[in-house]
Amino acid sequence: MLYELTKLPYQYSDLEPHIDSQTMEIHHSKHHAAYTNNFNAALKGSEFENSKIEDIFKSASKLPLPIRNNSGGYFNHDLFWKVLKPNGGGLPTGDLLNAINKQFGSFDKFKEIFSAAGATRFGSGWAWLVVNSKKELEVGSTPNQDNPLMDVSDIKGTPILTLDVWEHAYYLKYQNKRPDYISAFWNVVNWDEISKRFLLAIH
Ligand code: MN
Repeated sequence: MLYELTKLPYQYSDLEPHIDSQTMEIHHSKHHAAYTNNFNAALKGSEFENSKIEDIFKSASKLPLPIRNNSGGYFNHDLFWKVLKPNGGGLPTGDLLNAINKQFGSFDKFKEIFSAAGATRFGSGWAWLVVNSKKELEVGSTPNQDNPLMDVSDIKGTPILTLDVWEHAYYLKYQNKRPDYISAFWNVVNWDEISKRFLLAIH
């Protein structure tokens, strides 16, 4: 099957000033487009050509690197765009907020742990909030374009929130100040979308 570049549910400039328009445009139309095209190209003629992406991830340890890297690059960015929105931020509500409080003590503590996961990921990678096999929330990070659906990942589960901490995600506006980008990110988080994904994952 052919994968298609995600259509953003907002404009490139809509996440300003937290994520700038130029970064969004390059990130989506160049970086994500390249992962999508390269994923399709790597799949073509391979034994994984007709596999579901979830099954591709489960075999990550056995994948040729072009498929491992580009399947993750395709999927991770697709999720990232969808968990962002203009004028987002604030707090989740209902079952998700209750689960966060139960797992991490408080919403502020959760933010601190997730932010640290992104800030301390050495080099390029992603921070994650997942629902693990015990149906509990868990925070962690992965290198490169790996994700928690891959058998190679230290953190495993259904991802419901992610943050791209590759330099291409923030360097134009924030340069070396990754923690400033992470602080700004909280203003554009789409908690409605994450709650929806949380409820699907626990049921
Ligand atoms: Mn990226």
